[in-house]
Amino acid sequence: MQNLLDLEPAALAQWLAARGEKPFRGRQVTRWIHQRFAASVEEMTDLAKPLRAALARDAQIRAPRILRDTTASDGTRKWLLDAGSGNAVEAVYIPEDDRATLCISSQAGCALDCAFCSTGRQGFNRNLSTGEIVGQLWLSNRTLLQDGVDAPWVEAGRAPITNVVMMGMGEPLANFDNVVPALRTFLDDNAYGLSRRRVTLSTSGLVPWIDRLRDECPVALAVSLHAPTNELRDHLVPINRRHPLESLMAACLRYLERAPRDFITFEYVMLDGVNDQPEHTHALIDLVRDVPCKLNLIPFNPFPGSGFATSPRERIRGFAHALQDAGIVATIRKTRGDDIDAACGQLAGQVQDRTKRRLASRVAPALH
Ligand code: SAH
Ligand code: SF4
Repeated sequence: MQNLLDLEPAALAQWLAARGEKPFRGRQVTRWIHQRFAASVEEMTDLAKPLRAALARDAQIRAPRILRDTTASDGTRKWLLDAGSGNAVEAVYIPEDDRATLCISSQAGCALDCAFCSTGRQGFNRNLSTGEIVGQLWLSNRTLLQDGVDAPWVEAGRAPITNVVMMGMGEPLANFDNVVPALRTFLDDNAYGLSRRRVTLSTSGLVPWIDRLRDECPVALAVSLHAPTNELRDHLVPINRRHPLESLMAACLRYLERAPRDFITFEYVMLDGVNDQPEHTHALIDLVRDVPCKLNLIPFNPFPGSGFATSPRERIRGFAHALQDAGIVATIRKTRGDDIDAACGQLAGQVQDRTKRRLASRVAPALH
């Protein structure tokens, strides 16, 4: 049974063409799924009945199942989604006055093991399929419409979600082959029609894949920096040992040649006493001097056993001011949804069958 959410618009057109359908059918079915949020072929009422019956035999629209649906006091809403075998991932809806953003997951767990990240702490289970990634956007739009969400752009006939950030669970560039078709679906005019500036991918810095993204599907890019020196970054973001800061900065400059925005967003999580001292400010200013960028300072969101604390508010402000005085655009990220553990880095799902654990138990005997 083909899950139609797994097919980006061009692939859906090909799939239909292989069944002898005309090219316009691809556009028609794409719009039914991604603009009218049809949940089955039967809902596509302007398709002739025999065609609907034939498609329904071979195709489904199958989004992840919602396990839990929680809304925070600030309106942030988190869906816990079934990823099979006891695993779950999360998608977070963040409404604002002039837009609504969906934070999407790309993997169940993450193998990259950043020191301050609760997803990383759980280890890696598996990559999400294209259908599971697109399904998060499809499902939240459909659910919000069913709930009668109130926003001026929805009244004007647009979908509830206006922006997508790939900042949920997982490292999106480590799941490149499934993520890129999902991005293309977000951008396609017959699907979600989002502009490249409204789709942001956040990466911890997989340099070769940043180059591939630039060539194949450039969207707005956020890079998780978190430390201004290799010594500290090796410790906080271990992938830095393979792709150190010099090569990461060079990749950012190459990306900007094709990027939809003329800056890279650098994310910098503020960890008390770890990366928030004057020496770090100076090193950071030196590091990003030649890269057009915006620095987004993220107050660390604690989780049990993390071993880190959030920098005091005043220190975060001082850090931002020092960057601004050096001519760097720096903002402090508003923490949203923290009463439902929906803030950055708190997405935990319930990842089981942890590869890291399994590997550890296989490797450990050899060490003794
Ligand atoms: N894997 C990608 C995208 C997902 S994480 C990446 O690392 O960029 C999205 C952002 O949240 C990253 O900048 C990540 O470093 C940050 N983050 C992770 N744990 C956090 C925590 N506990 N508090 C605040 N931000 C955190
Ligand atoms: Fe993975 Fe990103 Fe968490 Fe690092 S911060 S462990 S790359 S999800």
